[in-house]
Amino acid sequence: MNAMDDWLLNKESTHAQKAISFYQKRNRFASLSILFNSFTGLLQNAISYAYLVYQVIMNIITIGQFTLYLNAVATFSSAVNGVLTSIVDIKIYGLYYKAMDQYVHIPETLRDNKKLPVPMTNSENYVITFQHVSFRYPGQKVDALKDVNVSIHAGTKLSVVGENGAGKTTFVKLLCRLYDLTEGEILFNGVNIRDIDYDQYMAIFSAVFQDYKLFSFSIRDNIALNQGKSISNHRIMQLLQKVGLSEKIDKLPQGIDTIVYKEFNKNGFEPSGGEAQKLAIARAIARDSKIVILDEPLAALDPKAKYEIFEQFADLVGQKTAIYISHRLSSSKACDSILVFQNGRIIESGTHDDLMHLGGKYAELFALQANLYLD
Ligand code: ADP
Repeated sequence: MNAMDDWLLNKESTHAQKAISFYQKRNRFASLSILFNSFTGLLQNAISYAYLVYQVIMNIITIGQFTLYLNAVATFSSAVNGVLTSIVDIKIYGLYYKAMDQYVHIPETLRDNKKLPVPMTNSENYVITFQHVSFRYPGQKVDALKDVNVSIHAGTKLSVVGENGAGKTTFVKLLCRLYDLTEGEILFNGVNIRDIDYDQYMAIFSAVFQDYKLFSFSIRDNIALNQGKSISNHRIMQLLQKVGLSEKIDKLPQGIDTIVYKEFNKNGFEPSGGEAQKLAIARAIARDSKIVILDEPLAALDPKAKYEIFEQFADLVGQKTAIYISHRLSSSKACDSILVFQNGRIIESGTHDDLMHLGGKYAELFALQANLYLD
């Protein structure tokens, strides 16, 4: 539709030229080495043959010995050749290995900590505190989050709102310890989350980010993941029903054992954007985690599915703490608390009523959205 063929092919050939000149440079070294190799081989053969022929002519060795030595020379020269070729190969692989070595040895700062257990005596009661948290992505000139201070209590349903690029996703990614903070600290029941064992800490969370992925495994595996058979089929069906997919899956000949996508199975289930998102939500709920994070969880759903899932939201997450990033502000109304982000800072916080009363950014965004529908 965009008539991109010439434009795209030009780009392809420009990049291909760059790739070719890289390989030419690399191959020049290999060609020179091979040439040198062949030349020394030739020289070595010529000298030894000449010497052996001379010995036969001078009657120093017999024809039998000549054949024997000739074989020995051939074997020796092929062995020498093998050693030289290996040296060239090692040099060539070394070019790749260097990059691989650098990558493998990037220090694992996120896991390099005191490995304390999760400080939780009563699992129903905990508090997470952000204290003067600032964060800048590597190589960036501005902070994505600036001096964020907030406490999240167990069981809270927290809505995080704000315009694109305000820092909402960064906020939850820091909470999940996907990055180290630039400044400040995040405390879990008073203990810096950096000091808590990484895997134990991770087990507290389940999240659906915007860039979630489904696998070409069965629907069951996509929901249960590493929990495997410890999640019953009945529970999987329950989850599917909660996200509004049970009818559809029931109709598939292999039910929850149907493979997702058709790449590996021609009878696979090819989910629409909304159906894929529902599966990802079922997966997040299936984990026995304490905190559920949903980043724009309903974006790909049609209005009816949005409404239904939202209605079921409280039931879906139950007693768990839920952090919920959404552009659909009407969904914030049911949350216990709302954080409004702007340019990396929390500029307003409170309940829907508080913020509407305040008449600030939230009230402005809410009115904008409401007007869109009314118009
Ligand atoms: P939101 O979720 O509110 O739309 P984000 O938290 O994703 O915003 O982004 C906040 C800021 O950080 C934006 O300016 C964005 O461009 C920047 N940012 C996000 N992810 C990265 C990244 N991986 N590397 C560099 N900058 C990033």
